Order: sequence, then structure tokens, then C-alpha cells
Amino acid sequence: MITIVGAGLGGLTLARVLDVHGIESVVYDLDSSPTARHQGGMLDMHEESGQMALRSAGLFDEFRRHVLTGGDATRVLDKHAAVLLEEEGNDKRPEIDRGALRDLLLYALPEGAVRWGFRVTGVRPVDSGHELTFADGRTEVTELLVGADGAWSRIRPLVSTDQPVYSGLSFVEIRIPDVAAGHPRLAAACGEGMLFALDDERGILAHREPNDEICAYVAVKQPSGWADGAVTRDELVGLFADWHPDLRGIIAESEGELITRPIYALPVGHRWSRVPGVTLVGDAAHLMSPFAGEGANLAMQDGAELAQAIVAHPKDAEAALGAYEAAMFPRARTAAEESASNLVDLFRPNGARRLADMFMSFAAG
Ligand SMILES: Cc1cc2nc3c(=O)[nH]c(=O)nc-3n(C[C@H](O)[C@H](O)[C@H](O)COP(=O)(O)OP(=O)(O)OC[C@H]3O[C@@H](n4cnc5c(N)ncnc54)[C@H](O)[C@@H]3O)c2cc1C
Repeated sequence: MITIVGAGLGGLTLARVLDVHGIESVVYDLDSSPTARHQGGMLDMHEESGQMALRSAGLFDEFRRHVLTGGDATRVLDKHAAVLLEEEGNDKRPEIDRGALRDLLLYALPEGAVRWGFRVTGVRPVDSGHELTFADGRTEVTELLVGADGAWSRIRPLVSTDQPVYSGLSFVEIRIPDVAAGHPRLAAACGEGMLFALDDERGILAHREPNDEICAYVAVKQPSGWADGAVTRDELVGLFADWHPDLRGIIAESEGELITRPIYALPVGHRWSRVPGVTLVGDAAHLMSPFAGEGANLAMQDGAELAQAIVAHPKDAEAALGAYEAAMFPRARTAAEESASNLVDLFRPNGARRLADMFMSFAAG
């Protein structure tokens, strides 16, 4: 039995691809149920990673049914709402709601494969593998342990002493319901897909969602700890006081909870020496800022490729983990380098111009 800690996209992809090949696993997650929290905004699935993983999971056709048509249209604006780039989508990187994607993987698993309400609080090596301790005091020993438990992984310390470092940038996630009828100016500013408004080392990164909502990340450079305090909507609007009203309105007319998301990253090139019986996938292995748009895609690729390596080495778990890590480390480094350099480039003067140029070079290449 393979033990996976974390029922995010990485852990669920791993469990599903193993199941497709008849290999049993159990997934533990600290959330009390699958509906315990909102899963966040839209994700674009890349051909070589997220889409590949969905094919390996036998879920590609089902995925296509959930794609938001036109959701990959892109607009890049400066703070005066001047349009620097406007592109229709081309379906190369189709967009799907993160919750729908998670459910696709989750409900493809056998009943009971995910155990909710199991927070891992400790882990230690024992003779026959690793012993997990859960918040309620229960323990479990496993021969093969996979940490898919995200940024603040409890499993990572078994292989590495590195910790995520604050990037200096914080996101505040906001939502605007009933956009088409209730907020037509904001709907027009956002377009049918993604809006990137960048200027003055700040940004509003918004996306139209299938249920006629806009989900936006308001990005601000702030000291560490800022996001831990109570950030108010008025305070946030004030930080964009000199921005065009249609952009500022995305913040001012948002409703409900403000969810702060300080952006952390592991060191670029994070890696470890092989430790018997344990490995990591996704953010646990290579947390990076979202500015390469790769984190979820890589987590799913990791899950799929680790499962395939286990299938290919049925009697030799160490060979499987070694083969998986040998391919994972370099691709994670490349993505982490890109996301670290994009974070710097987009949040300095003329960030919108640079982003528009970047999108144009993708289209040309
Ligand atoms: C604002 C923002 C925007 C992003 N946009 C994109 C994007 O457009 N495209 C993209 O590809 N990526 C994006 N990412 C990155 C992406 O969200 C992550 O890389 C991805 O979710 C990682 O998946 P994961 O399965 O490794 O970890 P997670 O999704 O973090 O899942 C970890 C799971 O482990 C569980 N867990 C944690 N600790 C424990 C514990 N102690 N015991 C038991 N369970 C535990 C959690 O409850 C969770 O379910 C974005 C990230 C952010 C912050």
C-alpha cells in the first residue's frame, strides 16, 4: 500500500494513475471534507504536463467537457486601462475551474481512497519505513510514503532542510458575482477570459469564471506579515487610488471574503539526495511563485510520472523513486527559474509592456 499525504492535484493525480494500473494507495488530507474550502480560481492546462497527466489518468475527455470555452482569451492593460494586448483564445492551454478539476480526479477514485480529517502532525523513520502521526494521536507505518502536502509540507523535512521564503509579493483573492448584468463595465474590462492589469509594481490579475463571476488576485508588494493582518477592501482600493475606475472597480465592487495569499517559494533548484521509502510531488517538492503558470501543471505531471515509474519498477520502489526524481528535478528547476524571473520583470516599471511582449513572443513561437 502506498501512502500519500495531501489530496491536492498532485496527490490525487498520483492516486488515480496508480488506480488505473491496479495499484492501491491511500490519501490522507487535513481538510474535514472535500467541500471544506473553496479550491480557488481557474487553471490553464498545459499540453506536456497537466493535459498529459489527465490523459494518463484516463480523464481527458471528461476534462474537455469542463473546459471554459474562450476562457483562454487574454487582455493586458496598464493602470489607465490602455490595452497593450488583446488576444482571443486558441485552446492550446484550455482553462478549467480548479474545483471542477479536483472533483474530476477525486470522484474517479474508489470510495474511501481519500481519508478526510487526517492532519499529519509528525513523521519519523522506523525500521519498516516511516511512521506518520495524526492530530488525533493515531499512528500508521508505511513502506512507501509520498508527500503531496503542499507548501508547508510535513513530509519535506525527511528529505530536505529547506523552507519556503516570502517573495515580497502578496495576493488578495476577491470575487465579483453576477458580472454580466450587475457589473457590465467590469465585465468589459475583463473580457471573456484573463485580464492582467499591471503598473507601478502592482497588479490586478482577473479571470471570468463559468458561473458569471470574476475571480481576481490583487497583487501588492508588502512586507512579510502584512497578509497575516486584517486587510480591508477600503485599504486595498486605496492602494489603487490612481488607477482607472474600471480597474479599481474590480476591487471596490467585489463581495465577500478577502483571502490573503502571500507568495512564497522554495529555493530555485530545490533538490535532495535519495532517501529510502519517501519522495515528494508538487509544491512540497518545488513551491514556486505562480508567474510561470506551472505549479498545478507540474504537480499533476509529478503525480502521473511517479505513478508510471512505480508501474515500470514493480519490485523496486527505490529504482522507481530515483527515476521519477531524476526527471522531476531539472524540469522543476527550469519552471522555478522562469517564475522567479517573471515575478521580478512583471512587478517593476513597465511590467505590463513586458508581459504583452512575452505573450506576443509565445504567439510568434
Ligand atoms: C494565487 C495562486 C495562483 C496560482 N495560479 C496557478 C495557475 O494559474 N497555474 C498553475 O499551474 N498553478 C498555479 N498556482 C500554483 C498551484 O496552485 C499549486 O502549484 C498547486 O496547487 C500545487 O498542488 P499540490 O497538490 O502540490 O499542493 P496543494 O494544492 O497545496 O495540495 C496540498 C494538499 O495537502 C493537504 N495537506 C497539507 N498539509 C497537510 C497535513 N499536514 N496533513 C494532511 N494533509 C495536508 C492540503 O489540505 C491540500 O489538500 C497558483 C498558486 C497560487 C497561490
